[in-house]
Amino acid sequence: MKATIKIYDTLRAKKVDFEPLKDGKVGIYVCGPTVYDSAHLGHGRSAVSFDLIRRYFIYRGYQVNYVSNYTDIDDKMIDRAKKDGITVEELSKRVIPIYARDYGNLGVMIPDVQPRATVYVPEMVELIKRLEKDGFTYVLDDGVYYEIGKFKEYGKLSKQKLEDLKVGARIQVKDNKKSPYDFVLWKFKKEGEPFWPSPWGDGRPGWHIECSAMTWKNLGERFDIHGGGLDLTFPHHECEIAQSEPVFGKGSFAKYWLHNGFINVDNEKMSKSLGNFFTLKEIFEKYDPKVVRFMFLQTHYRNPVNFSNVLLDQAKAGLARLHDFVRTINNLLELAEDGDVSKNLEAAIKVAQANFEAAMDDDFDTSGGLGAVFEFVKEINVMMSRAKLNRQELAYVLDFLAMVDKVLGVVFVEVAKLDTDVEHLIVEREKARKSRDFKRSDEIRDELLKKGIVLEDTPQGTIWKRT
Ligand SMILES: [Zn+2]
Repeated sequence: MKATIKIYDTLRAKKVDFEPLKDGKVGIYVCGPTVYDSAHLGHGRSAVSFDLIRRYFIYRGYQVNYVSNYTDIDDKMIDRAKKDGITVEELSKRVIPIYARDYGNLGVMIPDVQPRATVYVPEMVELIKRLEKDGFTYVLDDGVYYEIGKFKEYGKLSKQKLEDLKVGARIQVKDNKKSPYDFVLWKFKKEGEPFWPSPWGDGRPGWHIECSAMTWKNLGERFDIHGGGLDLTFPHHECEIAQSEPVFGKGSFAKYWLHNGFINVDNEKMSKSLGNFFTLKEIFEKYDPKVVRFMFLQTHYRNPVNFSNVLLDQAKAGLARLHDFVRTINNLLELAEDGDVSKNLEAAIKVAQANFEAAMDDDFDTSGGLGAVFEFVKEINVMMSRAKLNRQELAYVLDFLAMVDKVLGVVFVEVAKLDTDVEHLIVEREKARKSRDFKRSDEIRDELLKKGIVLEDTPQGTIWKRT
């Protein structure tokens, strides 16, 4: 039997037990970026949040099908391409690799499927045809519109009543629309814009219909989890529901809705429109991407992150503590003696694992999960100050960290970067010291210093740190 994972579902507005549609499987769709400009910190947070959720389902034994798209056609794409004097296709070819690189640096696993919207235009047309047949659409001079008044449940995700809706992001006010919140499904062709054929004339899809088509084709009419940034709840996700549910029937589309929180700067939401955003590339020039990932891990994915350099510096220090610990264990392992694993150590690992899983089962509380790992590190340090750990015990400690790092994705990255030359020199010096060849030992110490490695001799053996 699988452990129960509790998730906060935006639709039900509470924490519920996750129950997969198909035993042992999870289908997840996460709205990806519109690829007209560099990836910023907000994109990074959404990608890391859902990467952690995906990894934890895998950790818990689920077979995950993770789909996250690229929006490669919409108003922003067209405006930017025009400005840069290139085609929309050239723009997406330029920008998609930037996202792939930045997300890869953040340790985000590549999605199982990465659909691009432009590949699914025939399916979008098919959906609009079905909506038209059922009377959900009307045609104006510039496109085909969705009439939200026809879908009685419009607003159920964002908990808004139709009459209370305020004009917000990406809402077009057009005098002849039946409601200001009616949204475009198909935009008629304008000079110089990319277009596709449709029964209503050449044109291109609206933004919302793209995700309805990509979820349908990649995950089916009904799937487990739909995710995205909190700002997508309304209108984007509300519109996706309004498009998909009437076509596929009641109880179709996403079973659970998960949303990651904003990034704030000086208590204001980080956004392109406010101009207070940072690109990932800018931040990676000053901080290792894994520090940024670690910073995200320290806050629950639904809570806002109050971004600052202080927060990044704290993350850097926290991550360095973990890396130093692993390095120490690795160094000790080289020279440790064989033995049995003590009951104490076994118990410590059991407790740490239980605490890690309890936190993560509770709506993917990575901050609590990290807490369990740091508590464990502290306890092992205390154990090592009292007695030498043997080879089996040290390996057991590393195994535990490697297991939780399959989810966290921050512990073993830096350690792996240590080149084998350095490792060999450290071991050679340790051997020289043991055979009382202090001349050779000192030579190696100086050589390592030139490589930026300082050695420290402790009762446990020699450990090393970067200068
Ligand atoms: Zn979407």
